[in-house]
Amino acid sequence: MNLQERDKKVIWHPYTQMKGALPQLPIVEGRGVYLIDEEGKRYIDAVSSWWVNIHGHANARIAAKVSEQLLKLEHVIFAGFTHEPAVLLAEQLLPLLPGRQEKVFYSDNGSTAVEVALKMTFQYWRNLGNTSRKKVLAFRDAYHGDTFGAMSVSGRSIFTDPFNELLFDVEFIDLPCAENIEDLKSRILSLKSQLACFIFEPLILGAGGMQMYEAKYLDKLIKICQESEILCIADEVMTGFGRTGTYFASEQLNEKPDLFCLSKGLTGGTMPLGVTTCNSKIFEAFLSDDKLKTLYHGHSFTANPVACAASLASLAILLEPQTLANIKRIEAQHSLFMNKIAGHAKVKTIRHTGTIIAIEWQTEDSTSYLSSLRDNLYTYFLNKGIVLRPLGNIVYILPPYIITNEELAYIYSTISQALDDL
Ligand SMILES: *Cc1c(COP(=O)(O)O)cnc(C)c1O
Repeated sequence: MNLQERDKKVIWHPYTQMKGALPQLPIVEGRGVYLIDEEGKRYIDAVSSWWVNIHGHANARIAAKVSEQLLKLEHVIFAGFTHEPAVLLAEQLLPLLPGRQEKVFYSDNGSTAVEVALKMTFQYWRNLGNTSRKKVLAFRDAYHGDTFGAMSVSGRSIFTDPFNELLFDVEFIDLPCAENIEDLKSRILSLKSQLACFIFEPLILGAGGMQMYEAKYLDKLIKICQESEILCIADEVMTGFGRTGTYFASEQLNEKPDLFCLSKGLTGGTMPLGVTTCNSKIFEAFLSDDKLKTLYHGHSFTANPVACAASLASLAILLEPQTLANIKRIEAQHSLFMNKIAGHAKVKTIRHTGTIIAIEWQTEDSTSYLSSLRDNLYTYFLNKGIVLRPLGNIVYILPPYIITNEELAYIYSTISQALDDL
């Protein structure tokens, strides 16, 4: 049996209807922006392998630090013990985050980073003796992960449909804009005594269709929340580490969130790790002689030293001037492409923020995630040696920062061709 057949016998893949699923493509090697299959065919990883791989695949510097750490200390329980990579990473991350973030809490991925943030905010209110603030404010099309808490605060969609009755109550609001901002503000004011927190993806809703919105309106929402003592959680799992043109999307805000969730690009896409950070106000609400005020949360692999070492190596690369120059270069290329194809008859909308560009296809049938256009586009690009995973009729590019202008030009021209062909 070949690898595809063996896979089919034993593996259940994520986000995949296994009935009639296309064979899974065996990848044997990653080199920079390229993934290489068994036959030696190369694919540009234009979605950074689900948005995690910011510096390209098999980065030698990250690999060296990881193997060094593996031979020194591969893991240690993180309750009662600590280690250099975890402390150093926290020391380096906290000053990079906007506002005054004081503490890092480690977990395993983006969803757990969100769970931790939610538990911190719920228990914050309980610890203060307030039992009426139990609700969350979130965006209607948000995506915050796939565990139950993270699903609860995500928009209701086909992803959550089988579980909707089991999810906790959330106040959903539309993305803010000039027209609705006053309505949103009064809605928040009317609910304020019930709201524990407001969780949001700053500037861009990722899995919700790469929907972009302006910092100035988010600022207004955060301001009204903070005036109403509603804790603000910036879910920067996707936007963190340079994606939106700044190291963190929240740098583009004037108001400062109380908590941050990070993952995806954190380790450079090398291995899983999640981070939740908070300011001193939140941390101090848990300091008590009363044991019931403890945050009883942790994972077996909390602050895994190897994952922390990968993050330190990735962060060092991110902070080099060349990386920021690459981010700005990608941004400029995206702008040029946007202007070039904006008038195309099949382009319904096109938008970009930082290194992310999203093109919405004009379709006759439903524009849902389930449209057949999506599968046709996916296969079309794969045949041309490009990994793009459209969200329904929305094709987006979210590349590793080392991608060259020539590689971008190839992706752009293939998209232009697809607009004519499909
Ligand atoms: C991907 C994502 C998550 C979930 O992260 P996982 O590591 O996949 O659990 C949470 N929030 C946002 C904004 C994301 O894009």
